[in-house]
Amino acid sequence: MTDELFREDAHLFACDATVTALDARGVHLDRTVFYPQGGGQAGDRGELVLADGTRLVIADTRKGEQPGEIVHVPAAGQDEVLARFAAGTQVQAHIEQSRRERHMRFHTATHLLCALVPHAVNGCSITADYARLDFHMSEPLDKEALTAGIARLVGEAHPVSHRWISEAELDANPGLVRSMSVQPPRGQGRVRVLEIEGVDLQPCGGTHVANTAEIGAVVVTKIEKKSAMTRRVVLGFV
Ligand SMILES: [Zn+2]
Repeated sequence: MTDELFREDAHLFACDATVTALDARGVHLDRTVFYPQGGGQAGDRGELVLADGTRLVIADTRKGEQPGEIVHVPAAGQDEVLARFAAGTQVQAHIEQSRRERHMRFHTATHLLCALVPHAVNGCSITADYARLDFHMSEPLDKEALTAGIARLVGEAHPVSHRWISEAELDANPGLVRSMSVQPPRGQGRVRVLEIEGVDLQPCGGTHVANTAEIGAVVVTKIEKKSAMTRRVVLGFV
């Protein structure tokens, strides 16, 4: 299992690590700052740097076959560099910071949207360029009102933090689960919950800013009626 440093500190953009395995999909490390695609959030890109400065470009990060496995997927055409990687190789893992920071700002903004739209979520995608949330609802949504609501919550500078609760505690509070498609991970005995003080609380494994003020200027760029019971809200940076 890879030690998931990003779960405790989303603002950690580099770490030292040891290669534990190399397979057809990519590089496995004993610990990492690379977030694997999941919960709607895109996987990180970056580099694994050897002691002599040689760089392996990582194009994506994915979950492996086994729970807790993380695969650092190299960009194509790096066979010579890859040949220098083996179990035991020491590397420095660096993620592309500006891209991740956009993921963090958008991800926290989607939680603000959840607080503003009191309906279940049945789809979510968070990239560096846009974020979108699909709400299970038939009523129309107002673009300007939602943009103003997000701006108000950003301006109020609410602290954002995470904590771990037991599955028993989660079962006792079913209202915590807002999402219909992304259920909290089970079987590890504990669930990570993300709290935006006074605004939103829900299970989430993603990376977030530490205060809503860090989100900056985000606007609703589009509201789409995807089906009779689905309203899609798309967010963009100003
Ligand atoms: Zn989330």
